[in-house]
Amino acid sequence: MSTPARPESLARLDRLVAALIAKGIVTESDLVEAQARTDRASPEVGARMVARAWLDPDWRRLLLGNGAEAAEHMGVSMAGAPPLGVLEDTATLHHLVVCTLCSCYPRAVLGYPPSWYKSFEYRSRAVRDPRGVLAEWGTTLAAGCRVRVVDSTADYRWMVLPMRPAGTEGWSEDQLAALVTRDVLVGVALPRLPVALAAE
Ligand code: FE
Repeated sequence: MSTPARPESLARLDRLVAALIAKGIVTESDLVEAQARTDRASPEVGARMVARAWLDPDWRRLLLGNGAEAAEHMGVSMAGAPPLGVLEDTATLHHLVVCTLCSCYPRAVLGYPPSWYKSFEYRSRAVRDPRGVLAEWGTTLAAGCRVRVVDSTADYRWMVLPMRPAGTEGWSEDQLAALVTRDVLVGVALPRLPVALAAE
């Protein structure tokens, strides 16, 4: 049996990495650390940051003022990562995050972006027709709510601080965090109560 040929795309990646290392732009250990950091990250970290902001005004101020520092408080190492900005939704303003150029995403905090986030369709349509994109996620905004589309870039990454849903009074941080999904943190979805509760 012969060994299957290595895909050309991987061979190309090897050549690119070798060239970057040869030119002193990155080191092998930079790459290992960047990947390990993304492997450790998860939308659950962002969800906890949001839930805490719903409960604690001081934390909310920190989160909105310096997202990277807030992430460090959650045990995330932001060394070498771009700054993290946090976008505060209100009753009249909803935020949607996109990287129109490629796939910039707060990986250090939320981990790997979903494949749709990297797609040409999302990157172009999020800007051209944000309400149409939201509708496809089943996300309908209240009348009079504006949409602000924010570009994540190599220099600055963004996540959304959504509004706390009505009907969650007295909930614990764990219960609240469970409402905040990756899609909510990107802004394509809103935090939703489980159907059984929402019907009460
Ligand atoms: Fe990008």
